[in-house]
Amino acid sequence: MKIICIGRNYADHAREFNNEVPENPIFFLKPDTSIIIRNRPFFHPDFSDDIQYETEIVLKINRLGKNIDRRFAHRYYRELSVGIDFTARDLQRQCKKNGWPWEIAKGFEGSAPLGKFISKDHFEDLRNLPFGLNLNGQVVQSGNTRDLVFSFEDLIAYVSRFFTLKTGDLIFTGTPAGVGPVKIGDRLSAYIHNKTLLDFRVR
Ligand code: ZN
Repeated sequence: MKIICIGRNYADHAREFNNEVPENPIFFLKPDTSIIIRNRPFFHPDFSDDIQYETEIVLKINRLGKNIDRRFAHRYYRELSVGIDFTARDLQRQCKKNGWPWEIAKGFEGSAPLGKFISKDHFEDLRNLPFGLNLNGQVVQSGNTRDLVFSFEDLIAYVSRFFTLKTGDLIFTGTPAGVGPVKIGDRLSAYIHNKTLLDFRVR
């Protein structure tokens, strides 16, 4: 399986890094070894002094598809959750500056904690899903899917032009504003509406 992560998909987050909102979705991949499930702890790596959380809605692909038409894209995922796209911001800055690939900043071990997946039928309106992150009990990110630059359907249609999507593939759909660093001992809990789907510690 593969993990596809979308960049700059909320204008307020793009602005916090002085980035333009792109014309087409921007994406990158993480390896399957980046996944953490069942609220297991995230072990802070020693190669970065600036690991930052990005809280994102995650879609789970449930059938094979390529060149998926936007109109049918909703048929390609049935469950969603919330996940963290951990980013070694210091390494990412260095990679960007030098024009290097940034996998080490995005795809390292444990860089994709995943919440419990729930059926999308659970939600009345996928285009109005409030979600966010509590860090040690304080809300640090709060977003809503109505502010997505590219909808879930846009993303599935676009990504599937380049990659065949397979059952079990995951799409991290981008983070709203408010990203920030974590340290050992922190507790992160992420929610959709008022339902906590992910709750883990940094060790
Ligand atoms: Zn991200």
